[in-house]
Amino acid sequence: MLDKAAKSEVTLEQIYDESGSWHVNTGGETIHAKRMKGRFRKIKWMTMSVWLVFFLGPYLRWGDRQAVLFDIPARKFHIFGATIMPQDVWLLALVLLFFAISLAAVTSIAGRVFCGYFCFQTIWTDIFTWIEEKLEGNPAKRRKLDKAPWDFRKIRIKASKHLIWILIGMLTGISFMAWFTDAYQLWGNIFSLNLNGLEIAVLLAFTLGTYILAGFMREQTCFWLCPYARIQGVMYDSDTILPTYDVARGEPRGKLKKGQIDEGKGDCIDCNQCVAVCPTGVDIRQGQQEGCITCGLCLDACDSVMDKIGRPRGLIRYASLDEIQGKEQPPIYKRPRILIYAGIISFAAFGLIYGLSHLGSLDLKIIHARQPLYVQQSNGDIQNKYQLKILNKSDQDMTVSITLDGLKKYKTQGLKDRVLLPAGKLSSFTVFVRAPRSVLDKERTPLKFTVHSFEVYDDTAEYESMFYGPRT
Ligand code: SF4
Ligand code: SF4
Repeated sequence: MLDKAAKSEVTLEQIYDESGSWHVNTGGETIHAKRMKGRFRKIKWMTMSVWLVFFLGPYLRWGDRQAVLFDIPARKFHIFGATIMPQDVWLLALVLLFFAISLAAVTSIAGRVFCGYFCFQTIWTDIFTWIEEKLEGNPAKRRKLDKAPWDFRKIRIKASKHLIWILIGMLTGISFMAWFTDAYQLWGNIFSLNLNGLEIAVLLAFTLGTYILAGFMREQTCFWLCPYARIQGVMYDSDTILPTYDVARGEPRGKLKKGQIDEGKGDCIDCNQCVAVCPTGVDIRQGQQEGCITCGLCLDACDSVMDKIGRPRGLIRYASLDEIQGKEQPPIYKRPRILIYAGIISFAAFGLIYGLSHLGSLDLKIIHARQPLYVQQSNGDIQNKYQLKILNKSDQDMTVSITLDGLKKYKTQGLKDRVLLPAGKLSSFTVFVRAPRSVLDKERTPLKFTVHSFEVYDDTAEYESMFYGPRT
């Protein structure tokens, strides 16, 4: 059993020496988590890289402007070719619904994997502690440095670390702002010290916020500030897959000495490696805890220990309560709450696809005058009055034609052959439509207005209204 341990670089005695002092932190000390290689560490690096989109995304161009730009002053969101105006805010509601329910579904299936692998708080903390390790050394050295008296070396190391942390905080703030203004222009303004008051306030807030939350508060942010950490428990059930210590296999735990095999003991050799690597200071052997962010790093640690002592991996593994208790686990498509989540997610996704594919550069609204509904002219013709509101959502002036369908022998007043719509502006027109009473065979006749742009954009907007007449 110990052959592998003998061959490994780190001996069991060393493992016990370096981790013997570990205990669950309740907020009174800084956690210096050990870093170990492994499958889940690799996955974490990969998922963390998704955040590169946050830093690099604003520099993508689409035509002559930023590909994704949340232009708050102009009240327009540009997302590649699509422009979303306040009128399309329902799309934003669907986006929020999609992500909120997706988060609930993922939590129900695999616990807080979002926290462990994607959340900005845990990822920024991971980067900050990685820098800390590069400058100050492994956890034992970091703790020693923390306790050491201030001398030139300590000042140099600590100052370098805090300077890098602050620079990362600043870069985070600049990257955030770059989604709301032209990113290249923003850098120009920064270098020429030409930021406005709001930009300075946002930059300061993000720099300080990142520095404090990721540098100092770390896992305490998850414990005390994050609402999601509070509510995630209600999304779990006995089929939720979570990092779980296999008690039946691991207990009774006991220290293992080189060359000693105790058949009465479980597989856990009480090395505390799983606690040493945990970024939130959790001892997963005590069962599920609020602090566990489902990062899987304790799985890597325990697997490496199992490799060393020649036992199968998986003493700590992603498993559901039912699986650990030997019960049968239903397939995912038979879990009612997952089906409900899937239904809501599909609804939101379908709505988004529909909305984005029907987003045009024109928006048409028509208000039919109510008082009176119609006017009978001296020659017997019936006249209705309409208020047309046409929004040109594009960045360029647009010439459009407006046509009517549904009425015979009608005449209009207030409609020109071609109408110029200024870029990004709402244009309003009053239009009178007249028709001989003889062509009206009912009290309400459907009438469709069509606005057609035929210059820069080949786009059309339609609105169905009514033409009212006297009772026949
Ligand atoms: S569960 Fe694994 S890593 Fe944790 S103390 Fe036991 S053997 Fe060590
Ligand atoms: S207990 Fe394991 S999975 Fe949970 S936070 Fe700690 S290291 Fe990550």
